[in-house]
Amino acid sequence: DEEDLQILNQEFAAPESEDSGGWPVLAVVGRPNVGKSTLVNRILGRREAVVQDTPGVTRDRVSYPAQWAGKNFTLVDTGGWEVDVKGLDREVAAQAEAAIDRADAVLFVVDARVGATATDERVVKLLRSKGKPVILAANKVDSDVLEAEAASLWSLGLGQPFPISALHGRGAGDLLDEVLRVLPEESAVEGRLKRDGIHRVALLGRPNVGKSSLLNALAKETRVVVNELAGTTRDPVDEMIELDGQPWWFVDTAGIRRRMYKSIGADYYASLRTQSALEKAEVAMVLLDASEEMSDQDVRIIQQVIEAGRALVIVNNKWDLVDEYRQKELKGEQERALVQLGWAPKINVAAKTTWHTNRISRALNAALEGWQTRISTGRLNGFLGELVAANPHPLRGGKQPRILFATQVSTCPPRIVIFTTGFLDPAYRRFIERRLREEFGFVGTPIRISVRVRE
Ligand code: GDP
Ligand code: GDP
Repeated sequence: DEEDLQILNQEFAAPESEDSGGWPVLAVVGRPNVGKSTLVNRILGRREAVVQDTPGVTRDRVSYPAQWAGKNFTLVDTGGWEVDVKGLDREVAAQAEAAIDRADAVLFVVDARVGATATDERVVKLLRSKGKPVILAANKVDSDVLEAEAASLWSLGLGQPFPISALHGRGAGDLLDEVLRVLPEESAVEGRLKRDGIHRVALLGRPNVGKSSLLNALAKETRVVVNELAGTTRDPVDEMIELDGQPWWFVDTAGIRRRMYKSIGADYYASLRTQSALEKAEVAMVLLDASEEMSDQDVRIIQQVIEAGRALVIVNNKWDLVDEYRQKELKGEQERALVQLGWAPKINVAAKTTWHTNRISRALNAALEGWQTRISTGRLNGFLGELVAANPHPLRGGKQPRILFATQVSTCPPRIVIFTTGFLDPAYRRFIERRLREEFGFVGTPIRISVRVRE
């Protein structure tokens, strides 16, 4: 059963943390080696270390559901990445920034034994510009003697430093009390989505697929004068674009227009930009260059969308360059690369000539509809009852897990929890997902299915 548990942890790690939908978000930021991972483990109350990273390899941020004094929140760990010293400052700042943007409050960890470094000062500057509540943890204060070192961190200008020892747990309770004091009841960040009734789109894709061309083509049609729209608060990096008379926010377009990723180069920054756009958007439009072979980067971007739980539309651009031969080839490529993605709407366009760009809004709306789909518990259980009766779970060691009950716990994206008497085989889970899609649509949206075993 140990093995089962491991499988369970792997299989459901992401959906579990996804269940924390509206919980307030706390980001843990700080330089490498100050003890962020140790602190995260301390807060989560577990002993095993967060997986050690390969030096030089950046790690995605990881979210965990956390609890203190009966209150739930989402903990975002930014720790553990390592880069060459030259790029360090920039890397820290970029990583921290992406995490801070999606957080309701920030836990800034400093190594009290080292004291405030120039990098710490830079992070402070960034924190100030974001205007989010910050709690300063002075870590590695393993004993009273070291408290004086912690006090020196008043110099950072972030208020009272909380002396803690992530390693031994010292001071962690007081720190968490303070965390709860500053965290809102619900995540303001999540609530901000669609606050003005206008949907948010992230236009994504690797360099040169035609993002800025498409943006220009679409923006040309727009007649809305943004400043005249009452009650809209405008983030200067977002643009309002009207498609078929319906306004949309295209988020983070400054990055596309300024071609940030081109000047900076590294994939890493492109992926950070993608992540930050995804956090603000409800639906992602992933642009591919249909005239070229699909690349790993294309696939990674699509995976990022799915992991973020956003609605997805795939757009094959540069269709003017696609002849019959290439068309066949592309079909094969996409069937292989996007094998589990039959549900995502795919449209072919040519940004350069605006051919078929008028089909985009319909695809976006279809994906958003799927993303917001809610299936009543009655319908869901009626459907699952029939499904399971006709296709029971295969026997495993003489036992057969039974499905007791299922319910959709949330939308955006749809999350379904299935209560069972035992773990379900991954293949059987995929089978259920496939049939759910056949039955209920869920066009353009990932679905989260998690399993809760009842004794
Ligand atoms: P991160 O890179 O910020 O995530 O840092 P880690 O959590 O990996 O910690 C870096 C090193 O500092 C590890 O060797 C930890 O064991 C050590 N460390 C973390 N917290 C403490 C602490 O409170 N006291 C002491 N003495 N060492 C600590
Ligand atoms: P971005 O890096 O994703 O923003 O891509 P750009 O919009 O800068 O486009 C990259 C190149 O592809 C430019 O030379 C564009 O003119 C070209 N391009 C964009 N869309 C199309 C298209 O639909 N057809 C053709 N033939 N070229 C295109």
